[in-house]
Amino acid sequence: MQKPKERVLIVGSGFGGTKAALELAGDPRFAVTLLTNDLNLRYYPAFYHTATGGKRANSSLPLIDIFAAKEVTLASGSVTTLDRKAKTITTADGTAYPYDALILGLGVVTNYFGIPGLAEYSYSIKSVAEAERFKAHLHQQLIDDRQPDLNYVIIGAGPTGIELAGALPLYLRRIMKLHGIKHRAIHVDLIEAAPRLLPRLPKDASRMVRRQLKHLGVKLYTNSVVQGQSADDLTINGKPIRSHTVVWTAGVTNHPFFNDNHFTIMGRGKVGVDAYLQTEENIFVIGDNANTPYSGLAQTALLDGTFVAKNLQRRASGKTMKSYKAIQPITVIPAGAHWAAVCYGGLRIYGWLGWALREAADLIGFHDYEPWHKAMHQYMTAYGDQDDCRICTPAVK
Ligand SMILES: Cc1cc2nc3c(=O)[nH]c(=O)nc-3n(C[C@H](O)[C@H](O)[C@H](O)COP(=O)(O)OP(=O)(O)OC[C@H]3O[C@@H](n4cnc5c(N)ncnc54)[C@H](O)[C@@H]3O)c2cc1C
Repeated sequence: MQKPKERVLIVGSGFGGTKAALELAGDPRFAVTLLTNDLNLRYYPAFYHTATGGKRANSSLPLIDIFAAKEVTLASGSVTTLDRKAKTITTADGTAYPYDALILGLGVVTNYFGIPGLAEYSYSIKSVAEAERFKAHLHQQLIDDRQPDLNYVIIGAGPTGIELAGALPLYLRRIMKLHGIKHRAIHVDLIEAAPRLLPRLPKDASRMVRRQLKHLGVKLYTNSVVQGQSADDLTINGKPIRSHTVVWTAGVTNHPFFNDNHFTIMGRGKVGVDAYLQTEENIFVIGDNANTPYSGLAQTALLDGTFVAKNLQRRASGKTMKSYKAIQPITVIPAGAHWAAVCYGGLRIYGWLGWALREAADLIGFHDYEPWHKAMHQYMTAYGDQDDCRICTPAVK
C-alpha cells in the first residue's frame, strides 16, 4: 500500500513561507498547503520605492503566478489558534487546517512602544495599503495647501528609514513640479534615538550614509527620542516639531500569534528554536519569527524556508536532519538615486557600484521565487511611475 502523503501546512506567504512551499512543491511525498492572509509575496525591500511613486507591482508578486503549475494548495485566511493535540490551526473564520508538519513564517507587526499619538497620526510603509496611503497624503497635501509640508519627518534611521529619506526629496520635487508648485524649500528630517544612524552596522558605513543623506538635503537628528504626536506636532526631546507628515519606521515586534498561543518566547520577543528551527515536535518557526542571529532580514527568511523544506525531505528519505547554520547576509542600503552602501564583513562599497549591486540583488531576489523571464519582468516594474493623483497622474503616464 502507498504511504500517505505527509501534510505540510505552511503559514505565511512571506520570504520564508513562500520559499519553503516552492522547495516542497512537486515532491510526491508531501501534500503542501500554503495558508496566508495575503495572496501575494510582498517584496518589502521595494516598499520605499512604491511609497515614492514607484509601481505597486514592483513590491508584490502574486502567489497565483509563483505557484502556477506547481502542486501547492493556496488557502486564504488569518490564523488565530493552534490546537497542538488535534494538530490543527484555525483561522479567524473558524476553518481548521490539519497538519503533520507545521511551518510558521508570519512576520512581524508594527510596534509604537506605547508612544501617544503615533498609531493615530503617523504614516508607515509596512504594507502596500500603508505605502499607498502615505503617497496619497503627499499629493493631497499639495492639492490642499499648494505648498509642501513644513517638515517631512521620518522616525528611525535603520535601513527602511534611510531608504525612504533618500528617495523622498527627489520624489517631492518631482510631484511639486507636476502640481505646478515652484521655488519652495523641502525639509526632510530623519530622527534616530541612538547616537548614530544604522546602529547595527559598522561606524564607517554609518558615516558614509550620513554624508550621502546630507548631500541629499536630509537632516539627521541622533540621540533624539520621540515622546508623542498630535494632529499638528511631533514632540522630540521635549520640543515640538510642526509636521503633518510623520513616518514611523522605528519599531516592530513579533507576531502576536506566538504569545497568544503560548510559544516559548526568547530575546527580542522571538520564538525559541532548536538546531532544526523546530520549537516543538513538528512545529517549525522561520524568518522574522525565529530567534536566530540574523532574524529580521529577507535573506535569512529565505534561507530558513529552504533549510526546513530540505530537512523535511531528508527526514522523509530516512536521513537525519541537518543542523542550522546562521549565515550573515550582505547588507545593501540604497540612499537616493543611483547610490547604495554595501557592507559584508570588512568589505564596503559605496555609490553607483553599490546601487548596481542592489539592482542585481533585486533581480536575483525575484528569481528566488520565479523563473528568469518572470523575474526579469518583475524587475522591470521598478521602471515607470504610478501616482494615483487626479492632478498629476495624466502627466505622469
Ligand atoms: C519596509 C521594509 C523594508 C525592508 N527592506 C529589507 C531589505 O532591503 N533587505 C532585507 O534583507 N530585509 C528587508 N526587510 C525585512 C524583510 O522584509 C523581512 O525580514 C522578511 O520579509 C521576513 O520574511 P518572513 O517570511 O519571516 O515574513 P514576511 O515576509 O513578513 O511574511 C509574513 C507572511 O505572513 C502572513 N501573515 C501575517 N499574519 C498572518 C496571519 N494571522 N494568518 C496568515 N498569514 C499571516 C503575511 O501576509 C505574510 O505573507 C524590510 C522590511 C520592511 C518592512
